[in-house]
Amino acid sequence: MEITTESERLTDYRKNMLKLILSNHNQDCMSCPANGTCELQKLCNEYGVERAEHKREPREDRKEASASGRQSVYQL
Ligand code: SF4
Repeated sequence: MEITTESERLTDYRKNMLKLILSNHNQDCMSCPANGTCELQKLCNEYGVERAEHKREPREDRKEASASGRQSVYQL
């Protein structure tokens, strides 16, 4: 059995995963205590991912909760 860990396709998957992680992540590395020792930061540098391409929009009910002062809304 042959296992491939490096290919153009796998690199694209990894880049997309990093972009998705960044889309829901504070990207202010300069003020982060983990700056310089962060695995996410290291992988983003290694794969040339600088910022999220997918911006997450808050759900409508969360926008209302935010406007009303509540911090979290959970939907079951
Ligand atoms: S150093 Fe790491 S944890 Fe901190 S903001 Fe940057 S990517 Fe996120």
